[in-house]
Amino acid sequence: RCEIRNVCCVGAGYVGGPTAAMIALQNPHLRVTVVDRDPSRIRQWKSKHLPIHEPGLQHIIRITRDGSKALSFFNEPARFDSFDSVSSASSATSECESQCGELRDEIYISSRSPNLFFSTEVSKTLSQADIVFIAVNTPTKKRGMGAGRATDMTALEAVSREIAIHAKPGAIIVEKSTVPCRTAEMIQNTFKAHRPNINFEILSNPEFLAEGSAMTDLLYPDRVIIGCSPTPSGHHAAASLASIYASWVPRPKIITMNTWSSELSKLAANAMLAQRISSINSISAICEATGADIDEIAQSIGLDPRIGDKFLKAGVGFGGSCFKKDILSLTYLAEGLGLPEVAEYWTQVLNVNDWQRSRFARKVVRCMNGTLVGKKLSILGYAFKKNTSDTRESPALECIKILLEDAPGEIAIFDPCCEPAKIKEEIKRWIGSAALRELGGPIEVYNDAYQACSNSHAVVIMTECDEFRNYPSSKSPKLFPSRKTERPIVVDPRPFARLEPTESELLALHGYLSPALDIKDPLLRFEEEPACDDSCAMCAEK
Ligand code: NAD
Repeated sequence: RCEIRNVCCVGAGYVGGPTAAMIALQNPHLRVTVVDRDPSRIRQWKSKHLPIHEPGLQHIIRITRDGSKALSFFNEPARFDSFDSVSSASSATSECESQCGELRDEIYISSRSPNLFFSTEVSKTLSQADIVFIAVNTPTKKRGMGAGRATDMTALEAVSREIAIHAKPGAIIVEKSTVPCRTAEMIQNTFKAHRPNINFEILSNPEFLAEGSAMTDLLYPDRVIIGCSPTPSGHHAAASLASIYASWVPRPKIITMNTWSSELSKLAANAMLAQRISSINSISAICEATGADIDEIAQSIGLDPRIGDKFLKAGVGFGGSCFKKDILSLTYLAEGLGLPEVAEYWTQVLNVNDWQRSRFARKVVRCMNGTLVGKKLSILGYAFKKNTSDTRESPALECIKILLEDAPGEIAIFDPCCEPAKIKEEIKRWIGSAALRELGGPIEVYNDAYQACSNSHAVVIMTECDEFRNYPSSKSPKLFPSRKTERPIVVDPRPFARLEPTESELLALHGYLSPALDIKDPLLRFEEEPACDDSCAMCAEK
C-alpha cells in the first residue's frame, strides 16, 4: 500500500531530528531528509556536534546518516543510556548484558547505506517528498491577540504556505507539531488557496516522546495516533503513514481516529501529565505542615491501579517547552469556546506549579537562616530535567532568579548535559550579563561538579540526574574540605518534605560518607566533544 520513497521532515529540533532518525533507522528503503531554515542547526546535525543531547541518538545518527555498521538494540526500555559509552556491537552487547541482566528481542543492524540527510534546501526537498512531516515550533504567542496564552502559529503557517507552493501533487502532509484543535483545517485552507485543483490529505500525528528518553520512547511508543479525514483518500493516506510506523511498531498500537480528536489528544495528554505533578506537589505542602511523608503517600496512592505510580514524584514542578504552553493553549481554546470553568481548572495547574517553585526557593533561603549574603550555593542540574540539554522553561533558572534577590556570595551551576558556555548565554539572556562572575556578578558555571560544590554552604539538587543520586563515592570526602565546622545543607526537591538534612547527611556533607550526595564519577564532568576530523562541517568552518 505504501508508495512512499522520499520523506521530508520540516524542523530539525528536539522532535524533528530524533523522529526522522528513528523513521530512517527502521525504514532503510526510505530516503529521509530533515530540513530547517536555521543553517547553524543543520550544520550541527551534519557534524559530530549534534544540537541536542539524547541517550542513543548519536548511535542512530551514525548508522542512518553515516552508514556506520554494527549496533545491537535490545527490547529493554531505557537502555539507550548505556550505548553512549560504547562504540562497537560486541561491547554494546556485553555492556547491556551486564546492566540489564537479560537480553530480549535483539535486532542486529549490519552495515548499510546512509538514508538520513539534513539540508537547508527547503523548497527543493519539499518538491521531491511523498510525505512531509511538519515538526516546527509552536510556542506561546508573545504579543497581540491572545498574548501569553494562544499558540503562536507563525512558523506553522509559514511552513504550510511553503509546502502548499512546492509540494508534489498528492503528497501527504503530517502535523507532528503540537497544535490547537482544528489546525488541519487551517492547513487545508492554505492548500486550497495555493493549489485549488489538487487534493492533499492533511494528517494529524502528534508526538508523545519525552525529552531525555526520546529514542526509547520512539522505539517503544505506547501508541501512535493518526488523525485523518473520514474519506477514502483520508483513510488511504493514514494507511500509508501507518505502514511507515509498522516497520517497528506493533499494529495494535497504531490507532486511527478523527483529525480533531488526534490534535486535541496531545494537548489533553500533556495537561493530564502536568496536572498529576501539580496534584502531588500540592499534597507535598500539606505533608510539610503535618509531618506526613510525601514519598510514602506517593507509594500508597500509586499502588492503586486506577491511579498508577507514574508522575507522582513531588519536586520543584515541571519545566520544559511543552507542558506550560500546551496548558495555556488548552485554556485559551476553552475560553474561546465559552468554557471559562474549564479554562480556570487547567490554569490552576500552572498556578500550583509556579507556587511550588517559588516556595522551594524561599525554603532554601529560610534553611540558610534567611540570608544568603556571603554564602555559596551550588545548583546541580540546570536543564529542565535529567538526560537532556534542553533548558527551555528550566525550573533551575526560575529558582536562581529568586535566590539572586537575596544577594548570595556565589551561585555555582553544574549540569552534566549542558555546555557551560550555553548556560552562560542563557544567564546573559534571561538575567543579564552583570550576573556572571566574570563581570562582577555572583553566578559561575562549572564543568566539574566537585568544583561547583567545593566550599559550598548549600547544594541544591534541581534534577533527578543519576549522577546526583546516592552512591558511595571515593571522591566525596573532597567535596567540602574546609567546612568541617559549619553546617552545609542539601536541598533536594525530590523528598520535598525533608529539606532539613538528617545527622548522617550532614556527616556526609562534611565528607565522611555520602548517602545524600554522590556524583557518579564518570559523569561528574561535562564532557567536551572530542576533536573532530576534517569531515566535520562545523570544525571545517571554524
Ligand atoms: P524546536 O524549537 O526544537 O525545533 C523546531 C525547529 O523548526 C527549529 O529548528 C526551527 O528553526 C524550525 N523551523 C521553524 N520554522 C521553520 C520554517 N519556516 N522552515 C523550516 N524550519 C523551521 O521545537 P521542538 O521541541 O522540536 O518542538 C516541535 C513541535 O513538537 C512543537 O509543536 C512541540 O510542541 C512539539 N513537541 C515537542 C516535544 C518536546 O519534547 N520538545 C515533544 C512532543 C511534541
